[in-house]
Amino acid sequence: MSQRFIEGDLVGVLTTEPLGRPLDYRAPEGGCVEGDLVEVPLGPRRVIGCVWGPGAGGFDPARIRKVNRVLDATPLRDEMRIFLTRVADYTLTPLPLMLRLATRAPDLGAGPATRRVLRATGREPTRETEARLRVMDVLDAFDGAAVTASELSAEAGVSSAVIKGLVKAGVLAEEDAPRDLPYPRLNPALPGKPLSEDQAAAAAAMSAAVASGEYGTTLLKGVTGSGKTEVYLEAVAETLRHDRQALVLLPEIALTAGFIDRVEARFGARPAEWHSGVTATERRRLWRMIGQGDAQLVVGARSALFLPFRDLGLIVVDEEHDTSYKQEEGVYYNARDMAVLRASIAGAQVVLASATPALETWVNADTGKYRRLDLTARFGAAELPQMRALDLREERLPANRWISSQLAEAVEQRIKAKEQSLLFLNRRGYAPVTICRACGHQVGCNDCDARMVEHRFLKQLQCHQCGATRPIPHACPACGVEGRMAPVGPGVERLAEEVAERFPDARVSVLSSDLFGTARALKESIETIAAGGADIIIGTQIVAKGHNFPLLTLVGVIDADLGLQGSDLRAAERTFQLMRQVAGRAGRAEKPGLALLQTHQPEHPVIRAILTGDEEEFWRAEAAERRMAGSPPYGRMAGIILSSPDPARVFDVAAELARRDEPLRRIGAQIWGPAPAPIARVRGRHRVRLLIKADRTAPLQPALAEWAAQIKLPANMRLAIDIDPQSFL
Ligand code: ADP
Ligand code: ZN
Repeated sequence: MSQRFIEGDLVGVLTTEPLGRPLDYRAPEGGCVEGDLVEVPLGPRRVIGCVWGPGAGGFDPARIRKVNRVLDATPLRDEMRIFLTRVADYTLTPLPLMLRLATRAPDLGAGPATRRVLRATGREPTRETEARLRVMDVLDAFDGAAVTASELSAEAGVSSAVIKGLVKAGVLAEEDAPRDLPYPRLNPALPGKPLSEDQAAAAAAMSAAVASGEYGTTLLKGVTGSGKTEVYLEAVAETLRHDRQALVLLPEIALTAGFIDRVEARFGARPAEWHSGVTATERRRLWRMIGQGDAQLVVGARSALFLPFRDLGLIVVDEEHDTSYKQEEGVYYNARDMAVLRASIAGAQVVLASATPALETWVNADTGKYRRLDLTARFGAAELPQMRALDLREERLPANRWISSQLAEAVEQRIKAKEQSLLFLNRRGYAPVTICRACGHQVGCNDCDARMVEHRFLKQLQCHQCGATRPIPHACPACGVEGRMAPVGPGVERLAEEVAERFPDARVSVLSSDLFGTARALKESIETIAAGGADIIIGTQIVAKGHNFPLLTLVGVIDADLGLQGSDLRAAERTFQLMRQVAGRAGRAEKPGLALLQTHQPEHPVIRAILTGDEEEFWRAEAAERRMAGSPPYGRMAGIILSSPDPARVFDVAAELARRDEPLRRIGAQIWGPAPAPIARVRGRHRVRLLIKADRTAPLQPALAEWAAQIKLPANMRLAIDIDPQSFL
């Protein structure tokens, strides 16, 4: 249990400054407890920290300073500190970085207070300017949530004068509101939808697991549309009945709005939200309410895992296979795996929901480490789509055309029947390459080893590695010849041109993350499509993620081979998942769906597995291959990336690390590399990779730590360790 300290006791305080371990201070007047958030002097500054335990001692007692004050904020409980420590150990992340991840709310030191907020009075503006309408729109979107004048003007993109004008006109009223209000209570006693037999059985099993109050993980596997969400909402209900908190992680902000509506329909109130689209004020409120138990259900992105829950009873990871759960900067962690870790410390249940689980998850269920529940049928009349390959070798498409005649015909039929078609192409922008027809030069990024992608809609070239942009050149940057720059290959924008040409009367909607300024605009577009506002949808992978389009009956995959190229360990698995997900968009309501996959290799095992739909067979084969290769989950891997502006130095250091492999050899691990990373330069930094492979049971992290510590990195060089790497770029 948390240790108490009285004034003057030596305490170890962990700060978010990059100093490694906790620093010694003296407890302040009134004492403090382990886990308390405190303000301490550090050099000339005051910084925020957490009382981590007793002080280490051994320093000159006269020079030890006193904690300034204990913050009026919920302490980080034992469970949370253990979790942070274990994640730090697992991912080889310094603890201060972990603490920063866990205290990412503004104004933690400020304590409760009031602030001026605005609300709509219900009076309409007498003079309706465009700016004023935007403000009213934003207020609608906030749906009664408190918003300050500065948030409102930022969100609506208007000046503060516009807001003041609206206050003066009586359209908005200012009032003092307590900073952080509890969230409305959710009512688990409200009736849910009547469940099918399958669904009821799965819901009962998960509710029983929640009621046990113990840790456990369940793979909830069900085809898209089988009612996984409906079922895990019952596990949420059980959690609420036990007065514990629940967390639902979603892979994409665009999905939260629809999910929140479903929560409101089920429990009579809206849950709390945590993701990058939430205002600072709301984040602060949520952080506090979570700690005191006044937020029962949080819907969020992966970082919600680090919120200070008072009593976490359930974590749902929806679309658990999704790659966005892996964070690949700062702290390299996989939110799915860390959810399991957190739950095991908290005595909570985890539900991993997916139609196409990650291989790791499938294996864990297969070996009995996770419980597995299957929903095999789609709910109601909905049927799984039929799938067929269109062999592109049989039809040579003309230059700059990507839709085969069979696919075009199928689209035509859908338009006549007033049904929707989705054309899927996982490539943003207009064209992946811009080439000079005079000299053959391909426009690349100045700072990365990547070609620049033309985005015609935004009128620029973009580097998809570092985000650098520049105007589309008229003259070739290499040879200077004018007017010969040409786009090569398709992106969704270019596909849209072909569609407009071939189906001139169809209403077309392009869904690609970069075409929408805000999550709200994307959400609106999705709602319009769902309501029948488009005949043809052209989309990147954002359409693969769980949206529900009842009128959609045809999915055409423009290039099913796209994901099969490359030497990525997970290429087959990814392609399989993505294609199944995309195909799962078709025929979700009464009408049957059809999925057509354009491919040059219809006999490829992955394409065949997608078509036959024999999933278990696919996973068994993939698992067998990984076992043979000693790859995850049968072996362990760590990716090491060294980067520096100096290409020679970075190679030298990597080679030196590879030579001094004794700590790794001792645990039987092998080193591959150094080799230039597939993307050998990003943001002007040269990147060199090493890959470490070890037995599943080998103590990899301590060995890696010892190994990396042998070398003092030159200033300017960075070393990143990625345990269980997902991408190999
Ligand atoms: P999944 O999460 O597996 O994709 P959902 O839970 O989103 O599936 O369900 C798909 C659709 O079917 C949703 O519109 C949902 O409301 C509906 N649905 C699922 N189960 C039921 C049920 N028992 N009663 C009524 N509607 C249901
Ligand atoms: Zn770049």
